[in-house]
Amino acid sequence: MSDLNTHLHYRDLPAFFFSDVEPVAVSDVKIVALNTALANSLSLDETWLRSDEGLSILSGQSAIGGVPSLAMAYGGHQFGHWSGLLGDGRARLVGDLPNKDRAGTLYELHLTGSGATPYSRRGDGKATLGSAIREYVVSEAMAALGVPSTRALSIITTGETVIRNGAEPGAILCRTARSHIRVGTFQLAAASGEGENVKALADFTIDRLYPEAPNSGHDRYRHFLRAVVARQADLVAKWMGLGFIHGVMNTDNACISGETIDYGPCAFMDEFHPGKTFSSIDRNGRYAWNKQAEMAHWNLTRLAESLLPLLGDSEDTQIKAAEEDLNSFVAKFETALNQIMATKLGVEQAELEKDGFLNETFKTMTIGKVDFTLFFRNLTLVAAGKPDSKMLELFADQELGHEWLTRWKTAAKLENVMDAVRLKTMQASNPIIIPRNHRVEQAIADANQGNLKTFETLMDAVSQPFTDRPEFANFETPPLAEEIVHQTFCGT
Ligand code: AMP
Ligand code: MG
Repeated sequence: MSDLNTHLHYRDLPAFFFSDVEPVAVSDVKIVALNTALANSLSLDETWLRSDEGLSILSGQSAIGGVPSLAMAYGGHQFGHWSGLLGDGRARLVGDLPNKDRAGTLYELHLTGSGATPYSRRGDGKATLGSAIREYVVSEAMAALGVPSTRALSIITTGETVIRNGAEPGAILCRTARSHIRVGTFQLAAASGEGENVKALADFTIDRLYPEAPNSGHDRYRHFLRAVVARQADLVAKWMGLGFIHGVMNTDNACISGETIDYGPCAFMDEFHPGKTFSSIDRNGRYAWNKQAEMAHWNLTRLAESLLPLLGDSEDTQIKAAEEDLNSFVAKFETALNQIMATKLGVEQAELEKDGFLNETFKTMTIGKVDFTLFFRNLTLVAAGKPDSKMLELFADQELGHEWLTRWKTAAKLENVMDAVRLKTMQASNPIIIPRNHRVEQAIADANQGNLKTFETLMDAVSQPFTDRPEFANFETPPLAEEIVHQTFCGT
């Protein structure tokens, strides 16, 4: 199917890592969404995707290249507890395609909601239209915001009813990723007690995702570990810079590629609070906005444990190597976050530390109960020479806002208008439009009633997050009191 190295396909791993899966029949397939730009980058023709052959793949009836679909095996810690074998219980891999915009890279085509697999346990293997729409909107918004993420290629409805909060339309989402291998895949390999499984998985993952690693020796695996650490640090910093809360950072939802995966209970904050969570199942705030770096580090520690035998010759050297490589997380994360925050605030990085300016900023945002996105957006307007009024309106206590803004102007050395280069980077890092929860919920509610217009308009809005388009002004504003979404659900 592809002329790239065939040993880069997930199926080339030992049989331990997957199960072949039979198609699960669907009754009436209809395309709800098709991402033509993404399809095009994978050389998939839109007309072909809409044909019986294309629909057969998007609905899990067949796979690209005629091979059986497969469900991946992985384990995981969920909310800090080891769950053992999890695996693709409602998902399957149906293809692996080269991306013509990124030479040498393969992308997996993975379906969610395509029916039961050997890993379904008590689940039905199905997904709701609502959960598919949530993932489609938020993952595509993330990509447009410049955050590494799985992408959404299509949603089809299956003509079936899925029972969750009552009866909901059944749907299948097709997403793409550089790889769906997770921390939990390594944990399962390590738990098998077969060192060969861990080594085979590590070698495969390195060849596919980190080919720049040395070819052999402990350095090969240490390079790999450090590279995964760096990508996770960068990813979490990007999330935080957007007020994004993943919500379910279990080790089975931590991609080795550094792509954001699993858009279950995720949400962007409206009003800022550092300890904010949304997920109905995150009762202890484990995955709160300001805990995400610590949790990513926790997940990476599970990865390092799984890799231990590859990191050195003796237990001592293995542990020392793992600790050293894991310790690189903190500096990587802090550097990434500082860089992001300095750019967002339009100040030199050195200013963030002065008199604790960055901490004061977060504190002021919290006490002021400001909207996270509008705070940076309206600050960008001040930097562009607009009056302070719109910025100050965001604060519950305007005096507090005024004090902070005065301090910021000193930090930014702002007299009138910011210099063009700095202003441009500020504009390019402070989005005008994010997929606000109430908008996503409305799109889902309307789609469930058969109206896709709200979803389509929202997709249009989030696709150009940094462009000022007056016709989408409604999407900039936070929810009214009655529109606020307080909790999100996994929607499985
Ligand atoms: P998640 O919460 O999406 O990370 O999923 C955790 C585990 O539960 C994975 O192994 C999923 O495949 C499985 N799972 C979630 N929903 C279903 C479902 N409806 N049917 C079968 N398995 C599921
Ligand atoms: Mg998951």
